[in-house]
Amino acid sequence: MDEHRRIGVFGGTFNPIHMGHLMIAEFATEAFGLETTIFVPTGSPPHKDVAIVSAADRYQMTALAILDNPRFTISDIEIQRSGVSYTVDTIRELKKQYPKGTEFYFICGTDSIQDLPNWKFNRELLEQAYFIGATRPDGSDFIGNIIDYFGALGKEKIHLLEVPELALSATVLRERLKAGQSVRYIVPDVVIRYIEEHSLYSGNLQIEYFL
Ligand code: ATP
Repeated sequence: MDEHRRIGVFGGTFNPIHMGHLMIAEFATEAFGLETTIFVPTGSPPHKDVAIVSAADRYQMTALAILDNPRFTISDIEIQRSGVSYTVDTIRELKKQYPKGTEFYFICGTDSIQDLPNWKFNRELLEQAYFIGATRPDGSDFIGNIIDYFGALGKEKIHLLEVPELALSATVLRERLKAGQSVRYIVPDVVIRYIEEHSLYSGNLQIEYFL
């Protein structure tokens, strides 16, 4: 490891944040010697087309989930930006806040790495930041192909991080919450309390089905 400062950036919808997110952020921070990891809840995600709870609620849940970890912090940079947010703009903006030479590591699941060829400005992004792809079921098999796709840039900038694979997604959690099922031990207690207090995800889908 060199003496450059290393900062982690973890972008996500966090709808809601869960143990899979927290685990990969923790393991990546440790494995890559990241001074701090900044959670960046997305405002208007370019890759997702699902109904999501408000950015303010997703930000609050994320802030609560990371409160007790001194190596984690949060930024509202994408929430404040109007229109669609591109990761490359986020990294450029964050870079302005740190001394020259600071290295940025974008943390994600291997499914996001697999999708990287479809991201806008992906090469510009790889020039700005390293990628840490944490293993996730259905995502890890093709990572070599993706690295090859980006050639030398891919080899230098994309790194795989082996973590215990959790077949866990916010989608599954939203379904459980909607059905009134428990998400305890998968979502931090403090986030569960927030969800309950603000009646998030309960929806009235079941009622609609029966009308
Ligand atoms: P959704 O089900 O709503 O698509 P998600 O759980 O995949 O949500 P995001 O907030 O979109 O969550 O994820 C942010 C990042 O965290 C993405 O790069 C995603 O690949 C990664 N991630 C989420 N869950 C896991 C997991 N269980 N293991 C590894 N990476 C994960």
